[in-house]
Amino acid sequence: MVLLNPKAHSRVYPDEHSSEIMLRTIEFFEGKGKSKLKEDDRNRTWYADFLEFQKKERVFATLLTPQEYGEDEARWDTWRICEYNEILAFYGLHYWYTWQVSILGLGPIWMSENDEIKRRAAQYLRDGEIFAFGLSEREHGADVYSTETSLAPQGDGTYLANGEKYYIGNGNEAKMVSTFGKMADSADYVFFIANYQQPQYECVKNVVNSQSYVSQFTLTDYPVNEGDILSKGQYAWDCALNTVNIGKYNLGWASIGIGTHAFYEAIRHAANRRLYGMYVTDFPHVKQMLTDAYARLVAMKLFALRAADYMRAASPEDRRYLLYNPVVKMKVTTQGEEVINLLWDVIAAKGFEKDTYFEMAARDIRALPKLEGTVHVNIALVIKFVANYFFNPKEYQEVGRQSHAANDDFLFAQGPARGLGKIQFHDYNVVYNRFDLPNVNVLKKQIAVFRELLVNAPPTETQRQDIDFLLTIGELFTLVVYGQLVLENVGIYNIDDDLIDQIFDFMVRDFSKFAVQLLCKPSCTSEQMEFCRKMIEKPTVDAQRYGRVWEEVHALKDAYEMDP
Ligand SMILES: Cc1cc2nc3c(=O)[nH]c(=O)nc-3n(C[C@H](O)[C@H](O)[C@H](O)COP(=O)(O)OP(=O)(O)OC[C@H]3O[C@@H](n4cnc5c(N)ncnc54)[C@H](O)[C@@H]3O)c2cc1C
Repeated sequence: MVLLNPKAHSRVYPDEHSSEIMLRTIEFFEGKGKSKLKEDDRNRTWYADFLEFQKKERVFATLLTPQEYGEDEARWDTWRICEYNEILAFYGLHYWYTWQVSILGLGPIWMSENDEIKRRAAQYLRDGEIFAFGLSEREHGADVYSTETSLAPQGDGTYLANGEKYYIGNGNEAKMVSTFGKMADSADYVFFIANYQQPQYECVKNVVNSQSYVSQFTLTDYPVNEGDILSKGQYAWDCALNTVNIGKYNLGWASIGIGTHAFYEAIRHAANRRLYGMYVTDFPHVKQMLTDAYARLVAMKLFALRAADYMRAASPEDRRYLLYNPVVKMKVTTQGEEVINLLWDVIAAKGFEKDTYFEMAARDIRALPKLEGTVHVNIALVIKFVANYFFNPKEYQEVGRQSHAANDDFLFAQGPARGLGKIQFHDYNVVYNRFDLPNVNVLKKQIAVFRELLVNAPPTETQRQDIDFLLTIGELFTLVVYGQLVLENVGIYNIDDDLIDQIFDFMVRDFSKFAVQLLCKPSCTSEQMEFCRKMIEKPTVDAQRYGRVWEEVHALKDAYEMDP
């Protein structure tokens, strides 16, 4: 089974220590138990116990220190990082958040040429410290160009920093806050390190009402030495974007972790509850919703796993990950919302109860599409790849599963965050054509019509300026990429034909939904509308296949329950 089950952990690692980290973390949470987990969530208790655990086990030190700066099995290995994301979010998004913002904080550090700071960061990791990423400001949101935090040279090689940062996770306890600003004289970008313990650093408040600390902090004449500078100018800008490239991928994994735990809880409840003399899972609509939730979850994981392969295999000559990453960010996280919506309709009132994991899942799943670039920002990014993806493919050597023990060096040497429109992709038709399954075939037909639309009735100049119109084009395009990578993973993870066809059943429906949305856009021309109509298809009905997949889903009813 491709989904995580902490009580039947099965992910394979090339070394024992990596497995141990996963198992010990599971043990920590199961030992903590569901009632304490929920009590801490309700009381918004800072997760000192988890941070103490990770310090003792040197988890962050092992998983987040590049090999060159670490000891023993320390390496930045995306294969391990994926599952750690998944496990943490499986038990609670806040535990994941402190790890995630540490990853973001470490991004500009590991990308820096300042060796001294890197050594200090590695030591802090060994000491069990957490890190923070100070990019966002209250007034500017996604518009990072408008950053106001400034660094004023004092003429003696030192600087004074002034400004306010907002929404900065771990800003209450991070000795290294990677802070983004501009030089006061030249307006060049700069990344420097700030320490929450300095008197000129004021942690003003937690701007959210949860276990996490998402800080507002101010720097007032905060002294900075040359040794605290991580990067300057264009390189500092690239470090900001390249860090987000690494970090935002993890949000998809958080959605997978949350969705998986919520799924186990929901099916357990529904399959053991009797109404009118039958089980809730005997209702046809409940079967449909649970089957859909399961198929969507499996697809989320297959896609995210495959995207990880491309991240690990990336090089200056192969930057395909720059498409797959934003798709993990916007598509996997919004699919996570869809999964929770489906499950909530199944369990209804139960989803509000304070003793459930679900109550947290329903709240937290909403965050992931919105952080580190909203869905819109990421679709706007994805659109840049459409032309080359469809019309200018290139041959690449096949990328296999990247589960080997290696440090992912390239992630910290990604180079300039430019030239996205020049990146070429391998031909998506190759993998689609390997499958002759009813719903894969329907989707292929829909894709062919979409491609025809792009050739014969492409967005007009006005439509190209209209993000609202482009977002729907982006959603359709994303489904093509999503299906491609899911199919690429079918062989690697031995997914059977029934489940693949069930996955493509929802893909066909989703494609039809976005075709209707495009058709209804005010500026959609009559020619484009004609193509949209042709894109609307119904999935192939196969009651037997559906029945077999339902059996597979139903069999998970008692697969997992968290220890009390
Ligand atoms: C809980 C939490 C934790 C966070 N942690 C951190 C952290 O640790 N470090 C950090 O630096 N930041 C952090 N953030 C900030 C987060 O990354 C921002 O919320 C995010 O970048 C979006 O900014 P915004 O919410 O202010 O939306 P805005 O930028 O104000 O966007 C408003 C609207 O405009 C749209 N929009 C904006 N730009 C574009 C575009 N280019 N194309 C299309 N549409 C666009 C958006 O989609 C949205 O609908 C955190 C936020 C939260 C809520």
